Amino acid sequence: MRILLVEDDKMIGRSLALALRQAGFSVDLVEDGETALQAMGQADHDLVLLDLGLPQMSGIQVLRAARQRKDQRPVIILTARDGINERIAGLDLGADDYIAKPFDFNELTARIRAVMRRHAGHAASLLSAGDLTLDLATRTVTYRGTSEVLPGREFTLLHALMERPGMILSRAQLEDKLYGWGEEVESNAIDVLIHYVRRRYDKDIVRNVRGAGWMVPKGSP
Ligand code: CA
Repeated sequence: MRILLVEDDKMIGRSLALALRQAGFSVDLVEDGETALQAMGQADHDLVLLDLGLPQMSGIQVLRAARQRKDQRPVIILTARDGINERIAGLDLGADDYIAKPFDFNELTARIRAVMRRHAGHAASLLSAGDLTLDLATRTVTYRGTSEVLPGREFTLLHALMERPGMILSRAQLEDKLYGWGEEVESNAIDVLIHYVRRRYDKDIVRNVRGAGWMVPKGSP
């Protein structure tokens, strides 16, 4: 899952980006509102973490501009503890949730998961296809009764494919979901990850569709 983090405080921005990456998210960090809007126009982020107190163009202005151009992707606003008016303004403009600084990191990731579930129309944090189940809260994969916590990118790969079983994702779409800007992506990185996942479970767990990409089939492999 790829997150756009908009935060002008360099210390907060870098440490939050690092913590999110360690938690298995792919993160792009930008420090001002105009760059944030550009980034939202260019890349396929799944969610935006938007600080409201930004220089020049405020977070509220970014949110308004994004919603005006029909950008409906989930946004969680980061507000000051006492910023109740801007919090209300943000929610009224279509933010999906807010979290007040300073916040507990685990609370933030729980809110991210909750917002993504609502957005995807899932009631629970479980995604299933055939014999395979992903628990997004614990990053646990269960296959034919055996559960384990998967290494970050293998989990992210399965998460991307299992958001909609049966739907094909191209190499570019998968790379987009798995890697942030400026990250070196080896040309065979996706193939290697798919190889690991197949070896771990079953070779048919991720199906290749020639010339198009990959998918997780809806039924049991
Ligand atoms: Ca700020």
